[in-house]
Amino acid sequence: MRLDNTDNAWLTYSKNDRRELIELTDAYMDFLSKCKTERECVTEIVDMARKAGYKDLYDIVEKGKHLKHGDKVYATCMDKSIVLFNLGNEPFENGMNILGAHVDSPRLDIKQNPLYEDGGMAYLNTHYYGGIKKYQYVTIPLAIHGVVVKTDGSIVDVVIGEDEKDPVFTITDLLIHLASEQMEKKAAKAVEGENLDILVGSVPVKGKEKNPVKENIVKLLKERYGIDENDFMSAELEVVPAGRARSLGLDESMVLSYGQDDRVCAYTSLAAFLSVSELERTGVCLLVDKEEIGSVGATGMRSRFFENTLAEVMNAAGVYSELAMRRTLANSKMLSSDVTASFDPLYPNVFDKQNSSYFGHGVAFSKYTGRRGKSGSNDASPEYMAQLRSILDARNVRYQTCELGKVDAGGGGTIAFIMSLYGMDVIDCGVAVLSMHSPYEVTSKSDIYEATKAYKAFLMA
Ligand code: MN
Ligand code: MN
Repeated sequence: MRLDNTDNAWLTYSKNDRRELIELTDAYMDFLSKCKTERECVTEIVDMARKAGYKDLYDIVEKGKHLKHGDKVYATCMDKSIVLFNLGNEPFENGMNILGAHVDSPRLDIKQNPLYEDGGMAYLNTHYYGGIKKYQYVTIPLAIHGVVVKTDGSIVDVVIGEDEKDPVFTITDLLIHLASEQMEKKAAKAVEGENLDILVGSVPVKGKEKNPVKENIVKLLKERYGIDENDFMSAELEVVPAGRARSLGLDESMVLSYGQDDRVCAYTSLAAFLSVSELERTGVCLLVDKEEIGSVGATGMRSRFFENTLAEVMNAAGVYSELAMRRTLANSKMLSSDVTASFDPLYPNVFDKQNSSYFGHGVAFSKYTGRRGKSGSNDASPEYMAQLRSILDARNVRYQTCELGKVDAGGGGTIAFIMSLYGMDVIDCGVAVLSMHSPYEVTSKSDIYEATKAYKAFLMA
């Protein structure tokens, strides 16, 4: 890739390309605005998949039906991860083409015993999820999304702060006038994790001496949502920036939104996946939870969810054996689609300019991630990268190669190394982002468009 702008994808677009690009990115911004938790993503994805003709795998398994070439199925894990299969013409053992991304994003989770009153105001205590700069979460409008599960098993869905008529929440910060000590602190300490408590009320109820403001909130929770204070114990409530995803820039070439890591890759993978009908090799779209905290737990990539589901699919297709499944996995190819850092001219010191990704230069491949001498990374093989170059070149898809940042500037990981344990070819391939992990991340619409084209080309290869 040349670093000058003659190589910019925007310069190559026809009128038709631009129309497709706008259609795709408008739909993407709607998705981001609606889906701010992994559960909301999975619910929406199931909806989109069903509209595209995908069927619940376990309906088919229960009815003892058989799967064959052309069948399209999906399965979810605890409503927070999902995998879709489009059964190809070739035998499973030839391997599958897998698109993978994650649908969880950094945020603040409400604690199990969160509600308290202090100074005549009511707060909900939070514990942050994933890597955040804590100071970025104060003084912005926040919404609460999630579920409260009652002891009878019923689930109360909660979304407060998205409708224009809804109230929002915030975390206060110290006024500059009294912040001389705070301003001397390191950025990591200026706002402490335990201080990320959201302000939820200030009106006392009459006749209560102890915590009257908190009691008023308890009353409102009961009236509006049928929730008791104890129900927080079995709740999964996420505090996220309130409001819609927006077009950014006078030229409207970018997207500003919460949660683009990694919903930008999840959405583009899904859009590509649902747009193809018949495949030669079986196609898989795997959208998982918990990447931001190490891919742990039943819904994270390290769980057996994917493997178990593949076993069910192969069994329903009449080709399951332990050996057949191992061969299928080892012969598969995967694009582990996750965001990478776009070169930021305001902070050039942390980048190697020649090995950075740039807005408008296409989908970004990272042969390796990790930190300190590639530690913890999946270092993809050059043979695989060569195959991918040839696939994308043939379809005129723009791509670039990059490292997250300068050697020893920091680092990060993805789900790639977990899938590589099966012995399959896998490489990180995603969209470049500015302000990654902040409340409002920035992406380039043309990179979103090129990523979708790349994922589609990969599935059809
Ligand atoms: Mn990510
Ligand atoms: Mn991340």
